[in-house]
Amino acid sequence: MEISTLHVVATAEPIAELDRLGDEIAELAAHLDAATARLLELIREFDARGGWNHGFRSCAHWLSYRVGMRLGAGREHVRVARALGSLPRLADALVRGELSYSKVRALTRVATPETEERLLAVGRAGTACHVERIVRGWRRIDRLAEAQEAAGHHKARALHVYQDEDGMVVIRGRLTPEQGAVVMQALAAAGETLYQRMRAADPPIWPRDVPAGTPSMEQQRADALALLAEAALHHGLDPGAPGERYQVVVHVDAAVLADPEAPGQSLLDGGTHVPAETAQRLACDATRVIMRHDPDGRIVEVGARTRTIPPAIRRALHDRDRGCRFPGCGLPFGQGHHICHWAHGGPTTLSNLAMLCRHHHRAVHEEGYRVERHSDGALSFRRPDGRLLPDVPPAPAVPCDPSRALQAKNEAAGLRLRARTACPGWQGERLDVGWAIDVLHPRAVRPRAIGE
Ligand SMILES: [Zn+2]
Ligand SMILES: [Zn+2]
Repeated sequence: MEISTLHVVATAEPIAELDRLGDEIAELAAHLDAATARLLELIREFDARGGWNHGFRSCAHWLSYRVGMRLGAGREHVRVARALGSLPRLADALVRGELSYSKVRALTRVATPETEERLLAVGRAGTACHVERIVRGWRRIDRLAEAQEAAGHHKARALHVYQDEDGMVVIRGRLTPEQGAVVMQALAAAGETLYQRMRAADPPIWPRDVPAGTPSMEQQRADALALLAEAALHHGLDPGAPGERYQVVVHVDAAVLADPEAPGQSLLDGGTHVPAETAQRLACDATRVIMRHDPDGRIVEVGARTRTIPPAIRRALHDRDRGCRFPGCGLPFGQGHHICHWAHGGPTTLSNLAMLCRHHHRAVHEEGYRVERHSDGALSFRRPDGRLLPDVPPAPAVPCDPSRALQAKNEAAGLRLRARTACPGWQGERLDVGWAIDVLHPRAVRPRAIGE
């Protein structure tokens, strides 16, 4: 008896001290969550206003570059920030430090304005682990409902084609969303082709057998469908190898390739005009065939097909650059960019080449970004306004006691955060996930109450 009393006396002080330490951790964590809410608010606005949309692929890429966040974490921040835009109750609970970022992150995976209130109660009552388990179960129900819907769509697809009494062919059908998207895209493309042909024809050939007036939207669509059918039959219903499908042929005057301001043409195979900067980008790393025309436009000489960057140099470039060199990108594959374009006499040597992904190759050719190589081999990138884009941006200055500064800022904003602010209401009961979801999920089959 005496021994145990002694024991309590000896440890009471350290326990109280550890409690205080624990409280301090919990309080600071609540402050950090409140600050995270503000961070997400800023990210949401920055994302919505396209603040990242100057050389970066996405807001997450910008966060990774500017803030040093792992790309996955950046994506998650952007996702949560966007979701909270329509979930004011969850957003508010995070602001007030009542729900941790971990819980909010999990809940925003499934919450909708309709279910937000119920899920907020789950977040308040349960531990982070409970919340994870409920969200997982919730998603299973969502996926099940989605799968049922998709199966229903797939089953309901149908196309009825029959001839009417007057000889007209009637088409009526229901397509799955993916099939429909392809058909609508194809109809739009065919409609555009017909429109271009109509505009180019002088005198107008369309409508030829109809007195006057522009065809209606429905009439145009009918013509577009006929064109699609003709084109499909003409090509033996072959969708083509991916390389052929996406191959682009550009006809460009040598003078235009060297100087975008020069008079001349750059045209796609179908006759569509493309900006000279685009032609330069496509020509930067391409297979080229040089044809010489006489003044009447007849071809007088056709050179051999050559790659602007021979395979050996491309391998060496790959080896040296290991992906896109644009600051903050690092995509592991890309195109070779001539820092001084070959059309300007720039040589195809390693020192004049830099690997850029498709997105950043466009940024450099068409969006005004500039890249230079210094004598020591280092690359520097500049924004369109001439400002340097460093490889790693300098870290912002942080106050010498950041946690005190954060607490002061939150308190100034009217937040009273204590060690127990984010404590769940859970008393230690066993969590029955299946039952919880049956009760909470709007699409779940409700369990029947006894006597019902
Ligand atoms: Zn280029
Ligand atoms: Zn890139």
